[in-house]
Amino acid sequence: MQRTGGCACGAIRFKITAPFIGVGACHCTDCQKAAGGGANYVGLTPKDALVVTKGEAKLFHSKGDSGAEVARAFCADCGTPLWSVPSREPFMPVKLGALDDMSDLSPGMHIYVASAPAWHAIAGGVPTFQKMPPPMPPPG
Ligand SMILES: [Zn+2]
Ligand SMILES: [Zn+2]
Repeated sequence: MQRTGGCACGAIRFKITAPFIGVGACHCTDCQKAAGGGANYVGLTPKDALVVTKGEAKLFHSKGDSGAEVARAFCADCGTPLWSVPSREPFMPVKLGALDDMSDLSPGMHIYVASAPAWHAIAGGVPTFQKMPPPMPPPG
């Protein structure tokens, strides 16, 4: 299944050619900035599966909580946050709000809930982590 998305003004369009590795919500303070208030809802996309089909996103570089470089892509014309490019991970978190349709998706985990405001409801039934989840065990 191929997903498509873009920014609010249409200057940037993209497609995702592989299934998401996972869907999650990040409540870190950097993501609160990027999301405009609440958590940052993202689909983790294999790095080679995100294909920009129109325009060019602008990148904001910063250091994440882990100290690793992260670039946050957004539209320079309308400001829509689009995706992030972590330097050390094999995936890119793509904002669910940038997708044309996210109705079938829901977060499978919440991370950095330590910095979530008390008023932010977090749906039960999915794992929550104070900061990053522990590293995944090696396959096999
Ligand atoms: Zn735009
Ligand atoms: Zn975050």
